Amino acid sequence: MARSTVSNASLFQRAQLVAPGGVNSPVRAFRSVGGTPYFVARGSGSRVWDVEGREYLDYVQSYGASIVGHAHPAVVAAVQEAAADGSTFGAPTEREVLLAEELSARVPGADMVRLVSSGTEATMSAVRLARGATGRDRVVVFDGCYHGHSDGLLAGGGSGVATLGIPASAGVPSAAVSSTLVLPYNQVPALTEEVACVIVEPIAANMGLVPPGPGFLEGLRAECDRVGALLVFDEVITGFRVARGGAAQVFGVEPDLWCFGKVIGGGLPLAAFAGRRDLMEQLAPLGPIYQAGTLSGNPLATAAGLAVLSLLDDAAYAALAATAGRLAAGIAGACRGAGLEVQVPVAGPLLGIFFAPSPVGDYEASKASAATGLYPAFMHGLLERGVAVAPGAYEVLFPSLAHTDADLERTVAAVGDVAKALVATR
Ligand SMILES: *Cc1c(COP(=O)(O)O)cnc(C)c1O
Repeated sequence: MARSTVSNASLFQRAQLVAPGGVNSPVRAFRSVGGTPYFVARGSGSRVWDVEGREYLDYVQSYGASIVGHAHPAVVAAVQEAAADGSTFGAPTEREVLLAEELSARVPGADMVRLVSSGTEATMSAVRLARGATGRDRVVVFDGCYHGHSDGLLAGGGSGVATLGIPASAGVPSAAVSSTLVLPYNQVPALTEEVACVIVEPIAANMGLVPPGPGFLEGLRAECDRVGALLVFDEVITGFRVARGGAAQVFGVEPDLWCFGKVIGGGLPLAAFAGRRDLMEQLAPLGPIYQAGTLSGNPLATAAGLAVLSLLDDAAYAALAATAGRLAAGIAGACRGAGLEVQVPVAGPLLGIFFAPSPVGDYEASKASAATGLYPAFMHGLLERGVAVAPGAYEVLFPSLAHTDADLERTVAAVGDVAKALVATR
């Protein structure tokens, strides 16, 4: 059979005929940066290759679902071995126990774990659990945080003020967000006894990277305790990434419930929510709060997750943080050297890029950075130089364990070139 020659453009054209926007998750369609997405043929370590054979140093890394680099031999072997034994049964398996034990051991306070298949399911289920356990309806979220695409959490807010949720998407009934209160990030609100839970990204990583200000998480903990509300950390990005015990460990603030995803599936569809025993025991079959999943605890996904976690020891976290620190300093230096105003916050292995004159602490400031309109040219400039960052101004960079010093040097050099070009054409 003759090998068909495909190009990014031809595939994108075909894709748009059979898939809305040509993609299965909107950001991949490049709508906010323009141009044609690259279709990935394969990845290895810090790199991906598109269907035209072009190589990119990859900082997308599946938006964080890949932390050890693409196609790590230990992960590939674990998945192959698991697949040969059958990929789903609808009966419990040993690896589900091993993974829950591993997650619980790394996160003090996460006594029990329920595995699901996406971060969206994890947050949706954690909120249901919080409502069921407290007998209250109201949920507090923060503007600029992302908690997946369930109706109740797709609420938009006003500009930097506290508002009752308005649907952030067509198709979300106003009733679904009428109990969702949207507040500005990094300001501790005064809660009332109507609140079932406060759900927060303890380090916000879906409006660029916005670390919590001093006292923010501690203040949320105290307010929740004062009114009997539950504190839910959405650690779908930060969990098992910023430290062994995630952001809860870094900041020394323990929530009642956690949501995990991305890292723990080792690149396969797997997520989890976890928490105190007395809360988790209110889930079916022990308690009245229903939650279920045909593919939950999937054998391939748990095998991949266990393989990745076995690689994430203290040395790995130190290496990841060192990589991000070097990269951030290099990017900031290269941009400023070219006369481009930039902020490059770092949190463990995560870094963000804002075109802003001072540190960004909330969604308003993040939106102002995006409104400079610099990001699309920045991103495309890097892509032309073989460096892939996400096609959206609100995404963060995900350097992996596979990124080498040589990779970082190449990246910083490319950033310097792009920054000069941006300043020259302004
Ligand atoms: C990615 C993400 C989610 C949603 O996870 P999916 O697996 O995409 O459904 C939820 N919360 C946070 C903080 C995320 O970054």
